[in-house]
Amino acid sequence: MFGLKSQCVLDFEEEYRTLDDYQGRLSRWCPGCGDNGILSATQRLCRDEQLPPEKTVFVSGIGCAARFPHYMNTYGFHGLHGRALPTAQGVRIRRPDLHVFVNMGDGDCCSIGTAHWIHAVRMNMNMVAMLHDNNIYGLTKKQVSPTTPQGIRTNTTPSGAYLRALNPLSATLGVTNVSFVAQVVEWIPDLLYEVIKKAFHHKGFSFIRILQRCPHFLPDLYSSLLSNPDKLLLLRHDDGMEINDTIGRVYKNHEEHDPSNLNRAREIAEMGDMVPVGILYRNESVARYEDLRKPQRMPTWEQKQERLERAFDMFGIFPEDSEVSGNGNGEGS
Ligand code: SF4
Repeated sequence: MFGLKSQCVLDFEEEYRTLDDYQGRLSRWCPGCGDNGILSATQRLCRDEQLPPEKTVFVSGIGCAARFPHYMNTYGFHGLHGRALPTAQGVRIRRPDLHVFVNMGDGDCCSIGTAHWIHAVRMNMNMVAMLHDNNIYGLTKKQVSPTTPQGIRTNTTPSGAYLRALNPLSATLGVTNVSFVAQVVEWIPDLLYEVIKKAFHHKGFSFIRILQRCPHFLPDLYSSLLSNPDKLLLLRHDDGMEINDTIGRVYKNHEEHDPSNLNRAREIAEMGDMVPVGILYRNESVARYEDLRKPQRMPTWEQKQERLERAFDMFGIFPEDSEVSGNGNGEGS
């Protein structure tokens, strides 16, 4: 018998995606490079959240970290130096249904991309921005970056970096409309995963500074942090990050920090003697650019086409008797 709808419905089992489903090309980062840990934590998040690869996009600029999209089996855009954020914003505004992640190095974000970084914070569009901060330009062979500590010898400052390093946390916390700022180190995988997860669930622009080892060019940069767990300060709070007992026992310095307290977040960001790890600031009430720019104010396809045709007509040369002949200002004669 024909026409019974129920007979035609196929019952598909929901597909479960494993880590392999998010694995892109084989990583070409140096052995021991901290970028590998960031990649693993991100793939784990994608698996745990069961993000559809066809609805997920990773955007990057230029640098070692910028190879990230190649190593994810999702959509990706390996863009221009310093321009990862505006590219990601373009993706976000046109395709709000996609999960957007951004991977930038310290040169990419804090040097050539600084203006984009400030305005991305201010626009507060929903995405996760990861700053892989290895304190050096790795891809271009050990040039000084804005976050290189003063005195560190690089190929462009052979007698030592002249300036005090820029503090990406303080800079981000100083921008109007900031809504999420966190810091973590890549060598504690569970903390790294937890912070990326919190950032993913935040509705707005989530900025994570990840301290990342570059064993090729600055092998000793974080050795004192690695050998002395007391140099890390874990930020914990019911509205912040959960810290499991094992990590809590190894890293004994904790602070109960309410992430809605912006003034305290700024003080924590400026700590010189300890490295804070966790969520410094979170505020979900900050308006997002994509919500303010209401869809009803956006032109329809027909309106866009009409405007385009009018714009093209301005430059057209038409015969005298043509119906569309104009006066050069897009107006009919
Ligand atoms: Fe990683 Fe440094 Fe090698 Fe770049 S140069 S891949 S940052 S270890």
